[in-house]
Amino acid sequence: MNLFIRNISQLVTVAARGKRVKTGSDMRDLGIIADAGVLCREGRIAWVGTMGEWNQKLPHDFSELDAAGMVVLPGFVDSHTHAMFAGDRSGEFALRSQGATYQKIAQQGGGILGTIRHVRAAGKRELKRTTSHYIAEMMRLGTTTVEVKSGYGLDMASEVKMLEAINELEQEEMMTVVPTFLGAHAVPPEFKNDVSAYVALIVEKVLPYVGKKKLAKFCDVFCEKEYFEVAESERILNEGKRCGMLPKVHAEELSLSGGAELAARVGAISADHLERVGELGIAAMRKAGVVAALLPGVSFFLNHGYAPARTLIDSNVPVAIASDFNPGSCMSFSMPLMMTIACTQMNMTPEEAITAATLNGAAALNLSATVGSIEVGKDADLIAAEIPDYKFLAYYFGTNHVRKTIKHGTLLEY
Ligand SMILES: [Zn+2]
Repeated sequence: MNLFIRNISQLVTVAARGKRVKTGSDMRDLGIIADAGVLCREGRIAWVGTMGEWNQKLPHDFSELDAAGMVVLPGFVDSHTHAMFAGDRSGEFALRSQGATYQKIAQQGGGILGTIRHVRAAGKRELKRTTSHYIAEMMRLGTTTVEVKSGYGLDMASEVKMLEAINELEQEEMMTVVPTFLGAHAVPPEFKNDVSAYVALIVEKVLPYVGKKKLAKFCDVFCEKEYFEVAESERILNEGKRCGMLPKVHAEELSLSGGAELAARVGAISADHLERVGELGIAAMRKAGVVAALLPGVSFFLNHGYAPARTLIDSNVPVAIASDFNPGSCMSFSMPLMMTIACTQMNMTPEEAITAATLNGAAALNLSATVGSIEVGKDADLIAAEIPDYKFLAYYFGTNHVRKTIKHGTLLEY
């Protein structure tokens, strides 16, 4: 299907002009075109320009969408989610509201261990149905590419079940769904006193199988004291690379533990969280070109301090923002909400927040050659929002401004 979007009041292209990712002041350059048009042909962007430049003589083999009064921008790329899970943690949320900490709830067998019990008991069909429901809602909120991690199974069969389900959703859904293996998300209860035996299981059995079956694009680890130490994380990520998966790291969330330097050392595509990152980690990430994937919703929901977004951007580390949607520490996948939190709590500008949620999110998934900006040749993944200016996306919060989502050139019905 071919589609011409005409009379766009404000087109936010986030044009990368051949770059993989934006850093520093470049993050504030949104490549805005007023009174614009975009032609989508066979799923790709075929033309971008002003309505004055539009050549009416082209063969009229497209349907049209009038975007007068709308801001059009690239679909959001949510580069970090745990959107496949079973059960909920609303009870834990209520306990936290009365002062219980996330770590205390986990020590009492709640938290992630509760989700793991539910996921192990759930069938693949049930997991898919729940995630499919979330994906439909994400698209209404403007997300067109989402990464989904395993990591609530923590045994061979349950991790493979999750990854197979995520891969099937990628085939069945309009959304681009990127699978990540996160077997080292937590230490499962049966290995409570023997982390090294669990690491050996991941390295010797699970990763080779996941690699052979091509079930995951990335291998991620939760690098943290009392979870997976730096040396254990490094062993898992190196084996993941050997099995064909690019490394990602949950780094420096609860303590400064060297996860950012680890990400740089193993050539990770992104280091995520970074609430406690230090100067050495920032320098190492800049040198290695690791994307900092920040998760504003987690700090907001757990009330545990924000990543130093301003320092990272001013140090020329490429910054992305993602939702980290999961039942325990961020029960939201609204990318506009993440942008609002990034602006109000992390001192990012609205322009930086948009770049972080689009092009740099795509870079955190190694996909910025095809998505994340509105440029000729890229996938026609766009959204139209009924707002007078792009700044309203973060500024006017708590409501959905997205009126149209276009995925691979197809206008979604909802
Ligand atoms: Zn996470």
